[in-house]
Amino acid sequence: MATTVKEIANALEKFAPLPLQDGFDNAGLQIGLTDAEVTGVLLCLDVTEQIIDEATALGYNLIISHHPLLFRPLKKITGSNYVERCVIKALANGISIYSAHTNLDNAQGGVNYHIAYKLGLKNVRILVPKENTLLKLAVYVPISHEEKVRKVLFDAGCGNIGNYDCCSYNINGKGTFRAGENCNPYCGTIGDIHSEEETRIETVLPAHIKNRVVRALLEAHPYEEPAYDLYPLMNEWNNAGSGVIGELNDECDEKEFLLRIKEIFAVGCVKHTSLRGVPIKKVALCGGAGASFSNAALASGADIYITGEARYHELFDNTQKMIYAIIGHYESEQYTTEILHTIVSSAFPNVPIRTTEISTNPINYL
Ligand SMILES: [Zn+2]
Repeated sequence: MATTVKEIANALEKFAPLPLQDGFDNAGLQIGLTDAEVTGVLLCLDVTEQIIDEATALGYNLIISHHPLLFRPLKKITGSNYVERCVIKALANGISIYSAHTNLDNAQGGVNYHIAYKLGLKNVRILVPKENTLLKLAVYVPISHEEKVRKVLFDAGCGNIGNYDCCSYNINGKGTFRAGENCNPYCGTIGDIHSEEETRIETVLPAHIKNRVVRALLEAHPYEEPAYDLYPLMNEWNNAGSGVIGELNDECDEKEFLLRIKEIFAVGCVKHTSLRGVPIKKVALCGGAGASFSNAALASGADIYITGEARYHELFDNTQKMIYAIIGHYESEQYTTEILHTIVSSAFPNVPIRTTEISTNPINYL
């Protein structure tokens, strides 16, 4: 059975839903048709002309990158820069390009969790949880269908709070309604006010699965016109967001820890602020350009904050209280292809897949 681009995109988006991406981003399918049959998958951090050549030579027609090739709309495609040349080359060779970017950064188990795993951190959690992404659902169900509807809601993705699932609050009461002329009521009589013992089920859901949840609810609920309410919540969503924080198993000397980072991420040169003479236990990090989350790292009690890149002036704040370690954008995110590999190869074991052998890091260290 042939595997299509759409099927692979669906597997990636199940792990890292596109609505989790940041506002500036452009993750998802960049080039190609969703129903194209995939001959093989090449994984990379950045799409360059050499990467497209590599895929072509392998006979693979799907490139999955972390960084999107296309960020801004193209007004012309004449080959005047590498993005335009890549578009021309990909189209000419029938290659599709898909990118899992900040949606993969922000997902639980995504880029930053993987960096934490490489460092051996435990008790890892999101550093800056996403805001304005949760909804509360309250639905009124006849007691006979309470269990069925609750299960359907949980199966559709409701009720996840931290590492707990199946979270709901249930209270019994009395619902009333009067069915009009053209109704087909599940209970009660047309024209009479009816009262029914019902349960109010309350649960929580991320806003991006709202349509799926409402569809499942309407299918499982026995009433012709189920009554339900959806409220936006001010709560942060701890299951998605920027950066992570975790702890080392044992305290580590700060210089020793910096050397450990240098080795794990094969960094030509670890830039860091002054050592404090305090051992490292709590580690916060964000792959790529994550300097803007350093205040959150400090507020969470981190001894060190690791990110890919930072501007000079971003490094002056809080240096008495926490070390900043800058390990390079490419270096910090290089293991992202391992996440992509696991997702694709476990869902589609028969699709040829490999990680590029080309380093697309434009920065060298002398
Ligand atoms: Zn990046």
